[in-house]
Amino acid sequence: MVLTIPEPNKMELVEKPFPKTKSGYLIVRTEYAGVCLEGTRIWAKHDFEKFYGGGQSDYPDGLGHESVGVVEEVMPGSLFQKGDRVIIFQGDHCGHCHACLNALSPTYCTSNTFPPKPGQTRVGMAGIQDVNESESGGWAMGQYRIPHEANVVRIRDGLDFKYAQAANCSVGVG
Ligand SMILES: [Zn+2]
Ligand SMILES: [Zn+2]
Repeated sequence: MVLTIPEPNKMELVEKPFPKTKSGYLIVRTEYAGVCLEGTRIWAKHDFEKFYGGGQSDYPDGLGHESVGVVEEVMPGSLFQKGDRVIIFQGDHCGHCHACLNALSPTYCTSNTFPPKPGQTRVGMAGIQDVNESESGGWAMGQYRIPHEANVVRIRDGLDFKYAQAANCSVGVG
């Protein structure tokens, strides 16, 4: 199930297929997904893409980039395990741009802004769905999400999801 805002002031829950993943990505069951820039789409102008300058983010199902949850499925060789509690820092990961090589915010990985990886037609969270050949999971306001493992961090025991959630754009982007 994915939350969509097909037009301003209209909300729809849409059933989507369970996500598919490839090596390097996880399936995470969402517990909390914060409202960040999505507020502009939910309440008023429906111009989310303008914030990103390139039009790569304004999809009806493109809501939410901040989330925490529980690892549901891993690919062979993953560093994570089913049941891990995690925070997801948004966007895709290329591993060789300035941001990736210098441990800067995953938000600024060039794969989220510039021409797509081979096989993709879109970038960022839409690109994550494309590269995994998945019809869901790119964004946070859905039951399941498919982050790149490099953008996932375990949440320490005893820290409630609702507090861990606050570390996303407040810390991860900054
Ligand atoms: Zn945010
Ligand atoms: Zn990168």
